[in-house]
Amino acid sequence: MCAYCHLTLVLPTYYPEVTFGYISHLLFSIYLLICIAFHYFKAVRTSPGNVDINWSDGVLKSHNLHQLSSVELKELAAQKKLPFAFCKKCVKPKPYRAHHCSVCNKCVLKMDHHCPWINNCVGHHNHRYFFLFLCNLLAACAYYFFNSIYFAKTMYLRKASLIRGQPASSLPESNDFIFFFSFLLAAAIGLAIAGLASWHAFVIVTGQNTIEFYNNQYNKKIFASRGEVKFEQFCSLSTTVP
Ligand SMILES: [Zn+2]
Ligand SMILES: [Zn+2]
Repeated sequence: MCAYCHLTLVLPTYYPEVTFGYISHLLFSIYLLICIAFHYFKAVRTSPGNVDINWSDGVLKSHNLHQLSSVELKELAAQKKLPFAFCKKCVKPKPYRAHHCSVCNKCVLKMDHHCPWINNCVGHHNHRYFFLFLCNLLAACAYYFFNSIYFAKTMYLRKASLIRGQPASSLPESNDFIFFFSFLLAAAIGLAIAGLASWHAFVIVTGQNTIEFYNNQYNKKIFASRGEVKFEQFCSLSTTVP
């Protein structure tokens, strides 16, 4: 809707004739739309990264534990006697930064969260696409929002001129509502995406993901209750420390 309003209302108001500025804005709008669609598609279609079954079996063999049954492995894991990270649901060794997704029902490498909007986990291989999707969507919302302020001002002046009995501009009356709705939509989505993108920028810059951040916060409290300071908050290995 925002793209429709931008291409049919806002841009023609800025540039009544086809000029260099009009073509530049048009190409940039199309570029943003392609970037949003591309990164969304890649976030949906790219596997977040799953644990290789051969890798798990290799870890068991290297520790001479491959002959143990699932129940025995679970018992050892519950007693914290296994020298590697272990998923109790998959009953397999897992890399330290992998987490089990209850929706996908498998372990995901560097899992951030399961996103219903892309119907996929956000993990090691598609976190970049998810983050760039958010950044491009935020840029598009901001771009439309600030461009449409000029259109809103023009619309307001037209209303004022109508009240004074002067000739109305060529803008069709029926588009007012759809423009106003798209304006609010861009503002609301932009604010929500700004918060989400800021959060992901924070966890990426600090070398964590969302799950590790909360694990680190939990571990910090435990260390603090012992009067100790936990330094390696960016390393997911610390999540194994009680
Ligand atoms: Zn698992
Ligand atoms: Zn999932």
